Amino acid sequence: QPAGNIQVTENSFIKKLQSSGRRLVVFYGSQTGTGEECAGRLAKEGVRYKMKGMVADPEECDMEELTQLKNIENSLAVFCVATYGEGDPTDNAMEFFEWLKNGEPDLSGLNYAVFGLGNKTYEHYNSVAIYMDKRLEELGATRVHELGLGDDDANIEDDFITWKEKFWPSVCSRFNIESAGEEELVRQFRLLRHAPGELPDTQVFTGEMARLNSLHTQRPPFDAKNPFLAEIKVNRELHKGGDRSCLHVELDISGSKMRYEAGDHVAIYPTNDSALVERLGQLCGASLDDVFSLINTDTDSSKKHPFPCPTSYRTALSHYVEITALPRTHILRELAEYCTDEEDKKKMLLMSTNSTEGKALYQSFVAEAARHVAAILEDVPSCRPPLDHLCELLPRLQPRYYSISSSPKLHPDTVHVTAVVVQYSTPTGRVNKGVTTTWLAQRRPAPGAPAPKVPIYIRKSQFRLPLQPQTPIIMGGPGTGLAPFRGFLQERAAARAAGRPTGEALLYFGCRHKDQDYIYQEELEEFERNGDVQLKLAFSRDQPEKVYVTHLLQRDLAQLWDLLGNQNAHFYICGDAKNMAVDVRNLVLRAVRECGGRSEAEAQQFLKRLESMKKYSADVWS
Ligand code: FAD
Ligand code: NAP
Repeated sequence: QPAGNIQVTENSFIKKLQSSGRRLVVFYGSQTGTGEECAGRLAKEGVRYKMKGMVADPEECDMEELTQLKNIENSLAVFCVATYGEGDPTDNAMEFFEWLKNGEPDLSGLNYAVFGLGNKTYEHYNSVAIYMDKRLEELGATRVHELGLGDDDANIEDDFITWKEKFWPSVCSRFNIESAGEEELVRQFRLLRHAPGELPDTQVFTGEMARLNSLHTQRPPFDAKNPFLAEIKVNRELHKGGDRSCLHVELDISGSKMRYEAGDHVAIYPTNDSALVERLGQLCGASLDDVFSLINTDTDSSKKHPFPCPTSYRTALSHYVEITALPRTHILRELAEYCTDEEDKKKMLLMSTNSTEGKALYQSFVAEAARHVAAILEDVPSCRPPLDHLCELLPRLQPRYYSISSSPKLHPDTVHVTAVVVQYSTPTGRVNKGVTTTWLAQRRPAPGAPAPKVPIYIRKSQFRLPLQPQTPIIMGGPGTGLAPFRGFLQERAAARAAGRPTGEALLYFGCRHKDQDYIYQEELEEFERNGDVQLKLAFSRDQPEKVYVTHLLQRDLAQLWDLLGNQNAHFYICGDAKNMAVDVRNLVLRAVRECGGRSEAEAQQFLKRLESMKKYSADVWS
C-alpha cells in the first residue's frame, strides 16, 4: 500500500498515539501474561523519559500502520514477544508475525527494539523475537537498542530489568532526551468503591472471563474469553502408592459443540485456594465481600480494567489474579512504599534494584525460598498494602494447559486429563501447592451431589497422528508425558477395530516404580495384548542404577533408524522439556549419524526436515 494511503480505523494505534500526544507504543505477544506485563512496565516507565507510552495488542491493531509511524516525530515501537511451543508466535501475534514474514512492507524510518520471552529448555529458544528483530531491520527499520532475550528457565525478571536498564539510555541517546529524574510511582488504575447494595448482583462479575453471566448462561462458541463449564464425570487417582498423586479426570463436553482431536490441549481455568485468599484479605486488612472497580487512568487505553469489574475482592483473588506466583521486582518496588518500618522498606527497595546485592537478595528471599505474595507480607511484617493496589499489581490468573489423554473416536463427549499434583515444601517450611492441580484434586464427583464443574476450552495443537494408520509411530512419554499417547493408542485401536491396517507402534514409557506410578498399566497391557503397541518400559528407581526411556532408546538405535530412515515412521516426544526431551532428541540425532551414516550436519538437517514434515513432533513443557 502506498505510504499515506492508510485509512484511519478504530484499530488505528497511530490515531491513538497522536490524539494523546504519545510517541512510544509497546506491542506484546503474550500467551501467559508475562509479555503483556513487560510491555506495561516499559510503557509506564516512558514517563520518566518524557516518552509517555501506550501498550498495544497487535491482534487489535492495524499493524500495517507501522509503515506510517515515522510520521510521528521521534516515535518508537517496542515489541515484547514470547515464543511459544515449537518456535511459534503467541496467538495474538500470529497474524502480525505472518505479515512481517510474508510481506515486504517498507519500514524505513521506523525506530524499534525487541525484547523476547522464551525458555532455554526449548529447542526454538526465543526464535520469534530473534526473527522479528532481524526481519524489522531487513525491512528498513532502525534498531534503537539491541535485542534482549529473557529466559524463563533461569530468571526472566533479571533478564528483563538488565535489558531495560540499558534500553533507556539507548533511547535517550537516539532521541537526544534525558531522564526526567527519579521514577514517579503512579497507579495505572484508580479505585472505585461500590456501596453495599449499590449494584444489583447481576452486574457484579463472579469469575467470568469477559461477558457478565457467561458462566451461568452458557452460549457457544467457547474459547479463552468464554470458557465452557464442564462437569467432572470421573476424577480418580492413578498412582497406586508413593507420596505423589496423579489424577485421571474426565470432563464432559457434550452439548458444548466443542470438538477435539487426539493430541489437542485442554485449558483449565482454576480457582485459587480459599484459605490463601482469606489470608491475603487478613494481611491487607480488607473485607473480601466489598465490591469495587479498578478503572484505568489512561482513558486512551483499550484496557479499561485490569480484570472484569465491578467485582468483589474475594472473586478477584479467587479467579482473576495469580496469588501464588513469585512476585516480580516491580511489584516489590511498589509494595515497598507501604512498609512502615524503615528496615523492611530498605529490603524491599533493594530487592527491586538491578544491583548485584539486590539481585542476590531477590534470588534468595523470593526465588529460592519460593515466597509468594502472602509469604512476603508475612515475613515483611510492616508491609501492608491496600488490597485494591495489590490486585492491580498481581498478574492475571492464567489457565493451565493439559495434553488431552483421550481420543474422540472412543470418547466423543469427554476430554480426559492426566495431571500430576504439584506440591512442594519450601526452605521457609511452607508447603506451596499448584493452583490448578490442587483445586482439581478437591473436585471429585460424589453420588447424590451435583457434579463439580470447571471452566475449560480446547486449544488445537500440531501434535497429530499420521494420516494413514499403517504409518509406523514411535512415542516417548515418561511420567505424565504419556497423556497424549493414551489418546493416540485409543485412536489406533479404533482404526484396527474398524478393519483398517495399522502400522507398528512403539511406546517408550518410564516412571519411578512399577508398583507405584505406572499409570494406566492395565490399559497399556491390554493395548499390547491386542497388538496395538509394543511397550518399552523403564522403571527408574526399581534397581540401584537409574533406567530411563533414553537408556532403552539408546539400546534400540538401529531399529529407530530403520523405522525413521526406511519406513517413514513418525516420532513423538512428550513431557519434560528440560532434560528428557533434549536427551531424546540427541539420541535420535545419534541414530541418524551412527546407523544412517550421516555426518553431524547432515543428521541435523535430516531431523529438521522430519520436523518440518511433522514427522518429528514434540509436546513438551517445563
Ligand atoms: P502452578 O500453580 O502453576 O505451580 C507450578 C509452578 O510451581 C511451576 O511452574 C514452578 O514454578 C513451581 N514449582 C513446581 N514445583 C516446584 C518445586 N519443586 N520447587 C519450586 N518451585 C516449584 N501437566 C500435567 O500434569 N499433565 C499434562 O498432560 C500436561 N500437559 C501440558 C501441556 C502443555 C502444552 C503445557 C504448556 C503444560 C502441560 N502440563 C501438563 C503442565 C500444566 O499445564 C501445569 O503447569 C501443571 O499442572 C501445574 O499447574 P498448577 O496450576 O497445578 O501449578
Ligand atoms: P516424573 O514422574 O517426575 O518422571 C517420569 C520418569 O522420567 C521418572 O522415572 C524419572 O526418573 C524419569 N526421568 C527423569 N529424568 C529423565 C530424563 N532426562 N530422561 C528420561 N527420563 C527421565 O514425571 P512427571 O511427574 O510426570 O513430570 C514430568 C515432567 O513435567 C517433570 O519433569 C516436570 O518438569 C514437568 N512438570 C511440571 C509441572 C509444573 O509444575 N510446571 C507439573 C507437572 C510436570 P527419576 O525421577 O527417578 O529420575
